[in-house]
Amino acid sequence: MILIPTKREAPASRYILLHLTPTLTSQALETQLLQEDALLRGHFRLSSGLHSDTYVQCARFLRRPDLAAPAAAELACQLRGAGLQPDVVVGPAMGGVVIGYELARQLGVPGIFTERDDAGQMTLRRGFTIEPGQKIVIAEDVVTTGKSTNEVARVLTALGAEVLAVVSLIDRTGGQAALNFPNFALLPVTAATYAPDDCPLCRAGIPVVKPGSRPEKAFS
Ligand code: ZN
Repeated sequence: MILIPTKREAPASRYILLHLTPTLTSQALETQLLQEDALLRGHFRLSSGLHSDTYVQCARFLRRPDLAAPAAAELACQLRGAGLQPDVVVGPAMGGVVIGYELARQLGVPGIFTERDDAGQMTLRRGFTIEPGQKIVIAEDVVTTGKSTNEVARVLTALGAEVLAVVSLIDRTGGQAALNFPNFALLPVTAATYAPDDCPLCRAGIPVVKPGSRPEKAFS
């Protein structure tokens, strides 16, 4: 399903719904991510301290509903193609909140999110509940290792949910994510990380950038 702006001015009728087959290709998404500085190539110092040739900040992409909606439509299309219809979409905070909500909106189901409690444990808060037997799709902006996604899945499974699939904009493992569920990513990204004292980019004399340190990177 794709939202097409109409020429009408009234906000409530600005969009008509067309049941099209979304065709957001990986290449098109990569171009959009690069244009939005959501995907950076170079030499970066990550928050973990590691150095990398790639930096991903999907919030810079997802700030634009006109880009987020077609991306979610492509994910919805892939889910439908696999015969997977969730009762609820869960988008782990923070990265999964926006794409999870937009995917839920397009699938016509509630969208909720997990978050970490004061002890650092991933949990459902804010009165969000899962009924035993409910079918769940977990939506992430980027799957980095799969570890935290599997943690979310364990929490939901312990509540009686059935996790149908994990969907994400980016699979930063380049397709090697160790997920325990069917997973769909719109763009596999291969990113190299290096210990700071054994970094070929440092040896090549390339200045290291700490993303988010510049004022215009306000979404970090
Ligand atoms: Zn380096």
